[in-house]
Amino acid sequence: MALKIKTKWHLALFYKSPNDPAIERDVKRIENLHARFAKNHSDGGYLDDDDSLLKTLWEWDKLVGAGAWKPVLYFAYKKSLNSKDNSAAANESRLVARLTKAANQTIFFTNNISKLPEEKQTNLLNERKLKKFHYFLKYLFGRGKHTLSDEEEKILNLKYLPAHHLWVSGQERLLNSKTVFFAGQSLPLSEAMGKVSDLQTTPRRALGQNIVRMLKENSEFAENEINAVYTDKKINDELRGFKRPWHATVLDYQNDLAIVENLVEAVTKHFSISREFYKLKARLLKEKCLTYHDRSAKIGKVPKKYAFAAASKILLKAFGKIHPDFAEIAIRLISNSQVDVYPQKGKAGGAYCSGGVGTPTMLLLNWIGGANSVMTFGHEMGHAIHTEFSKKQIPLYQEYSFTAAEIASTLFENFIFDELTKNFSKKEKIIALHDRLQDKISTIFRQIACFNFEKELHEKVKSEGFVPKEKMAELMNKHMKSYLGTIVDLTDDDGYFFVSWTHLRRFFYVYSYAYGELASNALYQKYKETGSPSAILKFLSAGGNDSVENILAASGINVRNPDFFSDGLKQMRNDLEQLKKLF
Ligand SMILES: [Zn+2]
Repeated sequence: MALKIKTKWHLALFYKSPNDPAIERDVKRIENLHARFAKNHSDGGYLDDDDSLLKTLWEWDKLVGAGAWKPVLYFAYKKSLNSKDNSAAANESRLVARLTKAANQTIFFTNNISKLPEEKQTNLLNERKLKKFHYFLKYLFGRGKHTLSDEEEKILNLKYLPAHHLWVSGQERLLNSKTVFFAGQSLPLSEAMGKVSDLQTTPRRALGQNIVRMLKENSEFAENEINAVYTDKKINDELRGFKRPWHATVLDYQNDLAIVENLVEAVTKHFSISREFYKLKARLLKEKCLTYHDRSAKIGKVPKKYAFAAASKILLKAFGKIHPDFAEIAIRLISNSQVDVYPQKGKAGGAYCSGGVGTPTMLLLNWIGGANSVMTFGHEMGHAIHTEFSKKQIPLYQEYSFTAAEIASTLFENFIFDELTKNFSKKEKIIALHDRLQDKISTIFRQIACFNFEKELHEKVKSEGFVPKEKMAELMNKHMKSYLGTIVDLTDDDGYFFVSWTHLRRFFYVYSYAYGELASNALYQKYKETGSPSAILKFLSAGGNDSVENILAASGINVRNPDFFSDGLKQMRNDLEQLKKLF
């Protein structure tokens, strides 16, 4: 397939228009499928013997494969392109409510399995006939301890929309419609944030201050939103018997609790690395101390700008070298209008890749054109390749964990970095190495500092009932300081960055970045040593057919080794020492 550059989403891949009758047809079809499954199996006969269970598990897999979320995603993408599209937001909510109700009819199926007596569980796990569903069953049994009755589960599912989703999307829409004044212009918040690190010291600090001031001025909604969703989370945890606020996420992301806690502890213990990095950075910028907005500042310029078409060619070369299928997938997505490239007012900020069973994989970017844009493109395309490779699995295993997701995306960042910097001059290479290390510092240390911030915020909401925004800002600064060190001076306003930090609303999601970076570095090293992509292909093709730890083990990476994360961090310290020597 030849590459055709397209830069706007073609949402007709989903539906012709918001009024397309196919939307209602699809929703009805899903509702009917759930109703039929419920009618056929609510008597619990599937638990009578292994053959019935096997047959019903295959039916369940078919139900999962029916692609329930396509209509919802269509409206979610429309909303991403235009935060003022109220009708898209309304349709999205309406359909989420309908589909949740539909899925509620069949909730008994996995619930009943998850609560089988332990002896029965062991028997099923040893049954060879059920081998294909071994991991699915094991996963359900693990959840069983925290699963409530069918009726209670239904209520929790239904209240997710008003108690969490509507708050968070309301906050996002509020910020997407805001602008920041800078150099005589009103910039959309996402564009302003993207600009900060590319500016010289004086304008950078001015813009950074304008951003946090705007966030502070708009922090009242966020204050209520965060208190509401954190309280809702606290209620859920209490009902489900989760003692630690990150436990539910770790279970969701199919990780081992002890391994995640080992990661957080190891990174927190090594904050001296990030502090050391910022000291070096102050020296390179010839500043006595740094501000919060200097943390991603450039130490020099690689005066390169990339048109999206040129960047696409770099990406194809970098990925095609590892395996031709990687380039094929990228060509297909770009040429088929599945990548929305340029920023515009009202469009969601940042970048993401989204897809799922039975729906096209979509990438959203906010292209500015520097090397950063190229790296982000590589990151998101890494997610897309992972998503496409996972389609080799049965529908039940096509969805992969967030942690696995970040392993894939950061791995592909390494490949595009190598290609991008290949023809750089020595000076440019040093700058690029600095930027790369800075990214890794941010991915590992900043995200774990955020984990620690969330941890304390959850504790405070629990013990005090309501945490005022001033206190949230103060806490945020405390934890940012812990990884940035004393060389970075934080103002009270800087703490209001929490208003726009979407990760806080996804409860401990951030650990997946640090985990992903350290595990992907190990996969990358393995590729460098062996010159073979086989471990990578194994990892990508596994989708979600086992726990992340087991998928990695099958690809030859042992995160269960207690020193795995510390060893990875030692590598970071070496990189830092190397960089110091270059200057
Ligand atoms: Zn990602």
